[in-house]
Amino acid sequence: MKIANVEDRIHILEPTTDTWSVIRDIASDHNQEEAFYVCDIVDVVKKYGIWRSKLPRVQPYYAVKCNDNLTILEILSTLGANFDCASKSEINKVLSLGVGPDRIIFANPAKPASHIRHAESVGVSIMTFDNETELHKIKKLYTNAKLVIRILCEASDAQCPLGMKFGCDPVNDAPILLDVAKSLDLDVVGVSFHVGSGCREATVYRRAIATAREVFDYAASLGFNFYLLDIGGGYPGDRGTSIDKIANIVNMALDDFFPDPRVQVIAEPGRFFVSSAYTLACNIHSIRDSIQKDDVTKSGKLHKMYYINDGVYGSFNCILYDHQVVAPQPLYNNQCAKYYSSSIWGPTCDGLDQVVLDVQLPEMKVGDWIVFENMGAYTLPVASEFNGFPIPKVHFVIDEATWNLLKTSLSLSEDNFEILDRPAFPNDINTGNALFDVRDLPLRIDLPLYGQNVNYIDVAVLE
Ligand SMILES: *Cc1c(COP(=O)(O)O)cnc(C)c1O
Repeated sequence: MKIANVEDRIHILEPTTDTWSVIRDIASDHNQEEAFYVCDIVDVVKKYGIWRSKLPRVQPYYAVKCNDNLTILEILSTLGANFDCASKSEINKVLSLGVGPDRIIFANPAKPASHIRHAESVGVSIMTFDNETELHKIKKLYTNAKLVIRILCEASDAQCPLGMKFGCDPVNDAPILLDVAKSLDLDVVGVSFHVGSGCREATVYRRAIATAREVFDYAASLGFNFYLLDIGGGYPGDRGTSIDKIANIVNMALDDFFPDPRVQVIAEPGRFFVSSAYTLACNIHSIRDSIQKDDVTKSGKLHKMYYINDGVYGSFNCILYDHQVVAPQPLYNNQCAKYYSSSIWGPTCDGLDQVVLDVQLPEMKVGDWIVFENMGAYTLPVASEFNGFPIPKVHFVIDEATWNLLKTSLSLSEDNFEILDRPAFPNDINTGNALFDVRDLPLRIDLPLYGQNVNYIDVAVLE
């Protein structure tokens, strides 16, 4: 494990400090203008615990595309998650953590040839398919691959449906594809499905698991020996959501349709693990007042347009691509402020760059901060610097108890800690629990590293 970029390090917080206090602290630095994230690793660790306790039979393969940050991947790997990769470079990224190729599923049913060859060369053998061309391709390029047939079973209501692009019809197409696979002497080992990302219909998992059973049975009639059931992604991950209902339905369906414990059950959760861990703080750099005409009364009312320094070309691409609805919260709640109908706009010169269409907000001024929770899924990996606006930095935080739990498993040595010179940093002294500002490097942290007078500890994870 190597020392990470200073910016990717995990800062250890005192018990009284939480994400919001860290945000307030960073924002209170008068030099801080750029938008930034705080990622609470504790949240990821908790999510992993929830998964293990609610779905004990289901091994999670984290969907890397959701958030491919190395610290996140490292933490999930340490906790015991495996990985769902969709491309050569995602595979390389996961392998670079020291994760074995047997912990990766190449879950893209339509793969470029060079990516299939790469999977073979690095030993990633489990891959999905949903069409005949892919079978012929795999026969030619990686004849010993272990194949998983992806069937279509879609939720009636999902944030991002996937069914128009992936998954074969389980009744009409799956048997034909399995016949073809048999005639090509390919090794098909199981069934996968994805009910749609951000699934809002829990019962679909039962339908899909029942359907997978039928495909298992047909495969057995051809002489295949299926042992892998992949129940895909779709599990919600925002604050206040729960997977309890889905987990109950999944567990019951597994008992009913796959009672044999030799069937390995895996899933590919993405947003579940990361969505709520990331909180984004954006700064208001401009404000425009406009008059909104009421169509009925013809009277005009004042509407505030706030321009912030992240938008749909950056983190908020999730509004366009992931159909997210984001909830702005002022960092400081001024009880006396008057509320106005307000809209929030990104920094680029594109009219499309609108973050929130219409919301009642207390009046804010230039330099104020707006906070958005649940920003960990399908945000940063897609963000661009269009128009010259930087992608926000992420500050990783963890509490000391969770860190102590993790650090043994992360197998860190003294070399993984860097002790740096620390300038006088007023916030730090006043609040006693401040994060340092990475732009003010070099920093100094008093020894001992885990001693009483250290408010946060600068720890390298890896790059
Ligand atoms: C995107 C994706 C996932 C993750 O979906 P979530 O809704 O984020 O859980 C899982 N599997 C595959 C094949 C995907 O494409």
